[in-house]
Amino acid sequence: MFQQVPPTLGNQYEDDRVLRSYLRRVLPSDALRQIEPSLIEMGRLAGDQLYQLQLSDRLNEPRLTHWDAWGNRIDKIEVTPLWKLAERIAVEHGVVATAYERRFGPLSRVHQCALAYLFTPSTDIYSCPLAMTDGAARTLIACGNQKLIDRAVPHLITREPSEFWTAGQWMTELTGGSDVGLSETIAKHESNTDYRLYGRKWFTSAIGSQIALTLARPEGNPMGGRGLALFYIETRDEDGRLNNIEINRLKDKLGTRKVPTAELTLNGTRAELVMGTSDGVRNITPLLNITRLWNGISSVSLMRRGLALALDYATKRTAFGATLAEKPLHIDTLAGLQAESEAAFHLAFYVAELTGLSEAGEIDEESARLLRLLTPVMKLTTGKQAVSIASEVLECFGGAGYVEDTGLPVLLRDAQVLPIWEGTTNVLALDTLRAIGDEGLSKLQRTVKGLLETVKDSDLNEPSRVVLTAFDHAERWLTNARTVEPSISEAGARRFALTIGRTLELALLIRHAQWSQDHEADARSKAAARRFAQSGIDLIADHSLDDARTILC
Ligand SMILES: Cc1cc2nc3c(=O)[nH]c(=O)nc-3n(C[C@H](O)[C@H](O)[C@H](O)COP(=O)(O)OP(=O)(O)OC[C@H]3O[C@@H](n4cnc5c(N)ncnc54)[C@H](O)[C@@H]3O)c2cc1C
Repeated sequence: MFQQVPPTLGNQYEDDRVLRSYLRRVLPSDALRQIEPSLIEMGRLAGDQLYQLQLSDRLNEPRLTHWDAWGNRIDKIEVTPLWKLAERIAVEHGVVATAYERRFGPLSRVHQCALAYLFTPSTDIYSCPLAMTDGAARTLIACGNQKLIDRAVPHLITREPSEFWTAGQWMTELTGGSDVGLSETIAKHESNTDYRLYGRKWFTSAIGSQIALTLARPEGNPMGGRGLALFYIETRDEDGRLNNIEINRLKDKLGTRKVPTAELTLNGTRAELVMGTSDGVRNITPLLNITRLWNGISSVSLMRRGLALALDYATKRTAFGATLAEKPLHIDTLAGLQAESEAAFHLAFYVAELTGLSEAGEIDEESARLLRLLTPVMKLTTGKQAVSIASEVLECFGGAGYVEDTGLPVLLRDAQVLPIWEGTTNVLALDTLRAIGDEGLSKLQRTVKGLLETVKDSDLNEPSRVVLTAFDHAERWLTNARTVEPSISEAGARRFALTIGRTLELALLIRHAQWSQDHEADARSKAAARRFAQSGIDLIADHSLDDARTILC
């Protein structure tokens, strides 16, 4: 009788040509030699032990218990076996710590992102608490609050599981996650920097965290984002009692179902000011930059996981007398997905490089502006790509891709969160316009041209032309839109930001392709660049806002 063969995974580092080739380019060979054992080990865990547990843990979900047997309110969260193992592995392997130990200066962030990239797809989004933990450590350090740094940061960046703390990030309220300036949580002053918080937080992920950074409005402060202050909370006291926090319920979500995301009431929660009594939205920005980087790395890691499974399956599944891997149309389909994800990979890791430079204090002014601009661009571009690739990957499996116990549908459900949290596509597109400010795109244009400087292979001429033409169009569109009326640039912001993102992706892929050709005699990145160049880089269109209103009325 015919038997279907499921896809399998090998060592997720050793099998990943794109990651390995990239690391060979950006890391000095001595550094690569030193870190490679950590990546091989993480690749082994991700393809084997963690992946097997992920499959067997599929139906388990976190549980919230409100009351103990004796009538005491406990609001206890129990996470699943996969998450318990994921936490231990993450801590012992330094998936957060590596960025702070800085063994390789600014490139430690690249090393850490490579670990996170290998780790994430086998852990059902354990990357969520890690991202917020990393972001909280960075924020406390950036705010320079020595007391809180001494108290919390060693726990956030430890490699000792029994010492490890995770951090939550509680911003979103019922009034809105995008427009957080509307937040209603009130901070009542107690003494010095100590306050008590009263309000409701509407989305709080990884609610088992020991600490959280949150926003609240000190009494008497004006409305709007500037009137909010940034607070540090320890969620439980030494006896394990919650800090006047009620966990009302866990969200019943489409995906990320292993992540306990809660609705909370803060009812006199003890909190400490992190920095100043206002400007909380500005002060929490380092956290958002780090979680957006993690979001991008998670996006490319989920794309890679989907492709690793689909590529393997294509060699096993036969239809019409041959394996799928031999069918021209299936080859073409997979190649399109590979090119798209390879381009996305280079943008995500480019932002990791810039982040590392910034953290090590080695970034110049121009690169700092570039980082400010590319963080939202990268997050929004890769988030969208992750969803569309996950959807295509499921189709590559036919009906099996739609069946839960293959472990495949979770890829699509989990990917769908990536364009939503930490700034939706629209919100980040508008942020992209703010980041560009009055300066225009001339500096970014220099960067883009610089990326193409090394190109000498004539096969890369046409992709390079696509980059320059798309960029030129984006620049002309922005100048024109801003001259005519602000609502025009606002209405077209998403198409504009995605064009910038895709253009940068192509330019980075071209640069890598030339390097790979020169140093590895490998033409695969070049083929990916040629393919990606023809997949809709310039998304700017001449749609009028009046037409849009007409369609909707
Ligand atoms: C699984 C999950 C976990 C989460 N975890 C956390 C967490 O731990 N901590 C936390 O603080 N938050 C968390 N969030 C909340 C998340 O960050 C918000 O849902 C998100 O920021 C959007 O906010 P909102 O839901 O209020 O949507 P809204 O802000 O109401 O947005 C609705 C729509 O309007 C669009 N929109 C908004 N403003 C504009 C504009 N000016 N122009 C054009 N379009 C606009 C948005 O793009 C979106 O499509 C989580 C969300 C999810 C789904």
